[in-house]
Amino acid sequence: MMVYLPALYHGIMKAKFKTTCSECNAPIKSGEEIAKNPAGKWVHKYCAPESEELP
Ligand SMILES: [Zn+2]
Repeated sequence: MMVYLPALYHGIMKAKFKTTCSECNAPIKSGEEIAKNPAGKWVHKYCAPESEELP
């Protein structure tokens, strides 16, 4: 099994269905890269917080 996801980029996956981004309210198309935000909602990869690391 080959995995091309960037290491340590947790929670990113490709959408398997159409949904709506909770951050920008734009549609997410099937096949787009999505991530879960801290509230557990699907958002665009680029709408999700880049890091949840704390100082
Ligand atoms: Zn978005």
